[in-house]
Amino acid sequence: MSTARPVEDLDLAVELVNSACPLADPADRLADLSHLRQRFTELGEHRLAQETTAHDLPSLRLLRDRLRGVFGAGTATEAALLLNGLLREAAAVPQLTTAADGTARLAWGADRSGYPAVAARLPGALVEFVTAQGVRRLGRCAAGPCACVFVDRTRPGNRRYCCDQCTDRASAAAYRGRRRAH
Ligand SMILES: [Zn+2]
Repeated sequence: MSTARPVEDLDLAVELVNSACPLADPADRLADLSHLRQRFTELGEHRLAQETTAHDLPSLRLLRDRLRGVFGAGTATEAALLLNGLLREAAAVPQLTTAADGTARLAWGADRSGYPAVAARLPGALVEFVTAQGVRRLGRCAAGPCACVFVDRTRPGNRRYCCDQCTDRASAAAYRGRRRAH
């Protein structure tokens, strides 16, 4: 049985979406499962990494595209439309679970394994995040053509780029732009 952990599941969603990026080599790292398995394993999801099979790749790619839309949603209403559709299709019914200390939380796809668990847990984590924080801290990298997404965990909430390399690329481009302007 998988245990849903919303914060970590949000990171799984980011990893899944970012498995497609025009700047990566190859641009689509879901031609097979090696990349995703590695990232899931690095995030402590050993079982999920093993349970997901090549048969799930078309579904994973579709889920990836739709989750990317959630990170690009301009309003919570837009995110709700996308997420509610995903939850309905996954028939994801959240369960209320309690930790040893009595703390209650929601578990998504707790009775599932493999792709069905992914299809319930990742949108579920996004639902909980948007419920708590809205969509402002879900972002897409502003350094095109990069298409990676991120969760903005900075204190001011003004993150614009997915990684240090994109931040550097963007500032180099801005510098060249300023030089041309003189
Ligand atoms: Zn980027």
